[in-house]
Amino acid sequence: MRHFAHAARRVAAQRGKLEKVAIIAEYLRTLDDDDLVAAARFFTGTPFAARDERSLNLGGRTIAAVAGRIWNFERARLAEQYRESGDLGTAIGTLVRPALDLALFAPETLTPARLAAEFAAIAAAAGKHAGRTREAILERILRACTEPDEAAYAVKIATGDLRIGVREGLINEAIAQAFDVTEARVRRAVMASGDIGATALAARRGTLDELRIAYGTPIAAMLASPIVHGERYPELADAAWITEDKYDGIRAQAHVDGETVRIFSRTLSDVAASYPEIVSALRAQRTRMILDGEIVAWRDGGVLPFRTLQSRLQRKNLDAHLLAELPVKFVVFDALAIEDDLLIDEPLAMRRMRLADAVRPNENLELAPFAALETGSPASEVNARFDAARARGHEGLMLKRSDTPYTPGRRGKAWRKLKRELATLDVVIVAVEWGHGKRARVLSDYTFAVRGGDGSLLTIGKAYTGLTDAEIADLTSRFLALEIGRRGRAIAVEPRIVLEVAFDVVQRSDLHESGYALRFPRIVRIRDDKPPDEIDTLARVDEIHAAMLERERLTP
Ligand code: AMP
Repeated sequence: MRHFAHAARRVAAQRGKLEKVAIIAEYLRTLDDDDLVAAARFFTGTPFAARDERSLNLGGRTIAAVAGRIWNFERARLAEQYRESGDLGTAIGTLVRPALDLALFAPETLTPARLAAEFAAIAAAAGKHAGRTREAILERILRACTEPDEAAYAVKIATGDLRIGVREGLINEAIAQAFDVTEARVRRAVMASGDIGATALAARRGTLDELRIAYGTPIAAMLASPIVHGERYPELADAAWITEDKYDGIRAQAHVDGETVRIFSRTLSDVAASYPEIVSALRAQRTRMILDGEIVAWRDGGVLPFRTLQSRLQRKNLDAHLLAELPVKFVVFDALAIEDDLLIDEPLAMRRMRLADAVRPNENLELAPFAALETGSPASEVNARFDAARARGHEGLMLKRSDTPYTPGRRGKAWRKLKRELATLDVVIVAVEWGHGKRARVLSDYTFAVRGGDGSLLTIGKAYTGLTDAEIADLTSRFLALEIGRRGRAIAVEPRIVLEVAFDVVQRSDLHESGYALRFPRIVRIRDDKPPDEIDTLARVDEIHAAMLERERLTP
């Protein structure tokens, strides 16, 4: 690991991406096969491949205790170093005193492959004395280190915190450069195999295309960017799209591999245990596949809003009552892999065809219906589809370009979401605050109020977003003229300036005088056309709140 540590240190010291890539590529090229597999994984800051679920079960305390024992330093000194660097590996590295003669003359004994084997042994430790076994192996690892940096990097990998300023994409590039293949092929192989180590070796051997899809390793979800509901959609011109309903549920990626079914959330954690009926529905499929879709709650043939799904989340023990009360289904809208074909580079239209061929729908598994939207369709067509989606109880409309690949983890322009706010409120600003960062010199944070039954003003929220810099600058001078005192940190102003604010949800809350709070409030426009005595009332907020609850079929 001496050479790994040297390379890692040089990478950390470089700012430029190209230089970092070159250093890693050069280092990888020098390694034999086993070391290459291990080192490529280590560069992503993990002891094992992504698809590997083993973990070391080594806490910071244990590592600190073992290192302290070997090099005879006190806890307090380590704590001090740790505070300085914020990283256990670096902290330990500063306190290591390796035997000098070893450092100078010994050949590298702790190779990446050997470290990988030791990590495997730590992960395999089980039974009553597992803790002691793990400590003994860790001690063997650290004692084999002949340089402080070696120990530092062994610990950094063990704790999953390499800190050399490289993302996985950069390691892909280094592998591509080292073995003269394209970065796209490497990226694709890493995604398919869930193992950057195996990918590096395959790149060297020229066998990238032979890597099999590792079912069970999640792929980051493709995301959509918003477009604003209106009379024109310039974003949609010059391309063919498909439209789908935008379901108000939970994004899920299912990996179906015979009896083994895993369901990953958007944060890539396995949530299969929360949805036994969907797991059964997926098990009944005869095809290996990776599916992307949305889990929704439904009752009486209708979809329920997200809030009702929440009670099923994070529950470990689902009783029969809850299962019957809140049935869920998986609405599938994309296929990332089917059998041995990784589909992410295929155009959406093709993926959709493969999906329809592969999936057998049942009560808990549905294919999201979609419709083609021809190039140059009028906005009225889009809006009609949006209204129809809303009428079916969905959040809005998704628009996806039919000729584009699946780009994991990216919020691009190939997928668009069209939503419309529940309602807007006209409110008056009662207090303002100086902003932060580049807005430190303007009054950009506004507390606003609605009118109570007795005519008093009752605060209901705070908004920071939605106005242009020019509008904020203009408002700042108007507010300074309206100042009437202090309101905590804020400047209280005469209630003159009316805003129209949009929001996602209105909730009961003690935070504001009105007894309500708005979720994600944003300013739609300044309403200088509206006098403050015509702003919306608390009664109107009650109405919106009740309508929202009604829509969710919940009683207040
Ligand atoms: P948002 O959460 O508003 O950023 O919208 C993006 C989310 O909409 C995705 O992450 C999905 O969870 C969800 N969604 C609902 N229906 C679809 C659909 N038909 N296609 C893609 N995403 C959808």
